[in-house]
Amino acid sequence: MEVKRIDNYIDGKWVPSDSSQLLDVVNPATGALLAQVPLSAQDEVGKAIKAARDAFLGWRETPPLARARSFFKLRDLMEERSEELARVIVQEEGKTLDDARGEVRRAIENVEVATGIPSLMMGSNLEDVAKDIDCDAVRQPIGVFCAIPPFNFPFMVSLWFMPFAVACGNTYIVKPSEQVPLSQNSLFELIDEAGFPRGVMNLVNGAKEVVDALLESKDVNGVSFVGSATVAKHVYRKAAEHGKRVQCLGGAKNFLVAMPDAVLDRTAAAIISSAFGAAGERCLAAAVVLAVGDIYEPLRAKLVELASNLKVGYGLDETVQMGPVVSRRHLDRVLGYIEKGVQEGARLILDGRQIRVDGYPNGCFVGPTIFDHVKPDMVIANEEIFGPVLGLIRVRDLDEALAIMDANPYGNATAIFTSSGKWAREFKYRVRCGMVGINIGVPAPMAFFTFTGWKDSFFGDLHGHGRDAIEFFTEKKIVTSRWF
Ligand code: NAD
Repeated sequence: MEVKRIDNYIDGKWVPSDSSQLLDVVNPATGALLAQVPLSAQDEVGKAIKAARDAFLGWRETPPLARARSFFKLRDLMEERSEELARVIVQEEGKTLDDARGEVRRAIENVEVATGIPSLMMGSNLEDVAKDIDCDAVRQPIGVFCAIPPFNFPFMVSLWFMPFAVACGNTYIVKPSEQVPLSQNSLFELIDEAGFPRGVMNLVNGAKEVVDALLESKDVNGVSFVGSATVAKHVYRKAAEHGKRVQCLGGAKNFLVAMPDAVLDRTAAAIISSAFGAAGERCLAAAVVLAVGDIYEPLRAKLVELASNLKVGYGLDETVQMGPVVSRRHLDRVLGYIEKGVQEGARLILDGRQIRVDGYPNGCFVGPTIFDHVKPDMVIANEEIFGPVLGLIRVRDLDEALAIMDANPYGNATAIFTSSGKWAREFKYRVRCGMVGINIGVPAPMAFFTFTGWKDSFFGDLHGHGRDAIEFFTEKKIVTSRWF
């Protein structure tokens, strides 16, 4: 059977890449070869940049309401095809159908929020800043922006940025994660159908070479990156060196705190969903539970009971609650961390390593895994594993929990589980972390708020989506006028 080869979308047309370098896109549950993705070369990136640059003037002069209307169309198409899109995500990434449906929903919400651009982009003014002198502050689009997303939300992450950038009047280039390029391909089919002018949104498949070409081009004005901390730091540095606006969302190690007065059943259910949903491959996933005092034993028992009962399998089966991790390479990495935890002396109270999923011998499966007796200085308590592995640490009080979190370089998400308003208030006030849940295990901000990682989970100053997006994708101009 002939394997589908993915094309680029440049200047309003699907164009095959000239590159002879191809990567296999593999279904991580079945091991089936889904397609091949080209690693495009620098000159192909150059064509996309030129198309975006050429489209910029016409697009910025298109009235914001007309720009918003193109997104109404795209939104309707996404809604119509949402089930189809969710199924593509499951096949390329491995998450469950429910998780994939949630991802598509969140993506649609970003498009919906961006359609508010006529109001969101408005400037401000003040009459009589001096005698007969008025002052107007306007926002203007800047030029060409690009997104470099990670593998774990293959459809949604580019849509944290692109709808806002483009609705503001900029033009755009997406370089999908080469591990999971299929749902971005589907997105661009919808973009094509929605009838945006050519060159406004472009897709270039590839890896590091494409990123380098985007970062080095003087015709690219800004970059939004989402991925691991090491690459985030590298992209941040390089983009800044080339004079670009840049926002880089990096890795995470998320600690959830359970206070002695937490509602046990609901707390345990929320932690399970946070730690093992999407096989732990979320930047908001629970990695370590800091259990305060006496709740430790009953919570541990409940977590092990719930995690042992999760049904692991192929995400297209509606009854499955956890899918595989994204690839064989990533599976080895996760297994390596479990081994490390054992060597470090943590107690493996639920071991997912031996899992076998009937009918899928080639799947990249690792079952829910829980470590007890984890110490704050262990590698498994500090480094991002990005798999279904949860560590438990007993702490004396909230102060100790906060101190452990403070010592960790990351600050993406956290949560406290408690019935006390006082503890909740103290926690949200003191914790040095950008996204905070109170009795919520995955505190993902909606599209109209910003996605606010702190510390090494974010490099930049303006965050993704919400109001920050309007700041990031526009330049301010202050006009001071007097008429004689
Ligand atoms: P990754 O850093 O390996 O890759 C991300 C993107 O960078 C991909 O498009 C990839 O092609 C590109 N890339 C990889 N190496 C590069 C290099 N040397 N130079 C230039 N570009 C390069 O990340 P991943 O494994 O795809 O994604 C998982 C990571 O993403 C996790 O660390 C997770 O925490 C993080 N993530 C963070 C957030 C957040 O909001 N902070 C959200 C989702 C995922």
